[in-house]
Amino acid sequence: MNAEQDKMDFVILAAGDGKRFLSADPSSRRAKQFQLLAGRMVLLHSLDSISQWPSCGQIVIVLPQDGVEVDILNSLETAAKATTVPISFTPGGASRSASTWNGLKALSALIPNKLVAIHDAARPLVPHQVLNELLLACTGGADGAIPSLPMTDTVKHVDKTNKVLHTVDRSALRRVQTPQAFSFDKLFRLHQTNVDKGGKQTVTDDAGLAEAAGLTVVCVNGASQLEKITYAEDLNTMQNQQTEMRTASGFDVHRFSTEKPGPIMICGVAIEHEQGLMAHSDGDVGLHALCDAVLGTLSLGDIGQHFPPSDPKWNASSSDQFLQFALEKVKDAGGYVTLLDVTLICEDPKIGPHRDKIRQRLSEITGLPLHRLSLKATTSERLGFTGRGEGIAALAQATVCLPASYGRQE
Ligand code: MG
Repeated sequence: MNAEQDKMDFVILAAGDGKRFLSADPSSRRAKQFQLLAGRMVLLHSLDSISQWPSCGQIVIVLPQDGVEVDILNSLETAAKATTVPISFTPGGASRSASTWNGLKALSALIPNKLVAIHDAARPLVPHQVLNELLLACTGGADGAIPSLPMTDTVKHVDKTNKVLHTVDRSALRRVQTPQAFSFDKLFRLHQTNVDKGGKQTVTDDAGLAEAAGLTVVCVNGASQLEKITYAEDLNTMQNQQTEMRTASGFDVHRFSTEKPGPIMICGVAIEHEQGLMAHSDGDVGLHALCDAVLGTLSLGDIGQHFPPSDPKWNASSSDQFLQFALEKVKDAGGYVTLLDVTLICEDPKIGPHRDKIRQRLSEITGLPLHRLSLKATTSERLGFTGRGEGIAALAQATVCLPASYGRQE
């Protein structure tokens, strides 16, 4: 068998409207496959895992016929361009099997490989070990192979009134997952026959069609990571498993100048003060401390490493760009900020009268809503350098939510 024969194509089904997911969380407007999991769209997680599998041939993604938001389509196209395997998109049908059929037809127009696997986009994490086992089973002679897990709960057979009839022997029962792999030609013919007969055969997975036609379908080892997102709480559980919260601090001081007059910059707002601040940049201690706190959550050093004071480029620079740079790094890592908290320490100027304006400006700079921006101010009771009015200091903390995989490649 040559290498080409070992390739497996994929149809990823992402056309469902996820009624059970949506009804559980009416505030959620997007179908589950387009929700974010650890900062990345659920559908893109499965696309990532599958496209990075060495034996992946090509992928067809089946999308809802209409109503997909433009920004979702754009990010799907960007992701498709970034993959090493060919990706194409096709519209889905009114049912799961109609969508599968559309996906298979799209593949047949693209010169398919001998094997194809059908995958539900609502199972975002696809371990390569499972794909290896599916490939092995199909190249070993099975018409189809499906990942499965043993039943761990006791199973009861009940009547229509929910009265227990008996306990089922669970040793021979399996819970079945996707991707489900088949010979392309055989699966194509099964779906074609089903369509020719008016699509009357209702099955909840592709293996159901194959079994009914008398084909050999074998179970391989599934994986707990392959669990399906059905309800909103499933996404929350997966989110918790896939993300980590990180908090880091920042601190900054600038000295008041006896030669340079105010105003001084505090968190992006110019505030009148008799003396200006000595600094290479605009001396905005609040933004500098916040920038260090955000960089700290990513273990990316401090502001001086990224914007050295020795570099004349940063002379008199407006400091909002430093904080925006750090926030961009969080986005690049697939994370998001949950809180920025800054405490300003000085006797003068008084911060209170400017509090609302400062928080508003912080919101403009960071793109964060006000409830994620905390501003505090204190004096140091006339003690120390801030107490003597020699300078101004700021303490900051940033809390971010990052994909649990962040930094693992280091
Ligand atoms: Mg500074």
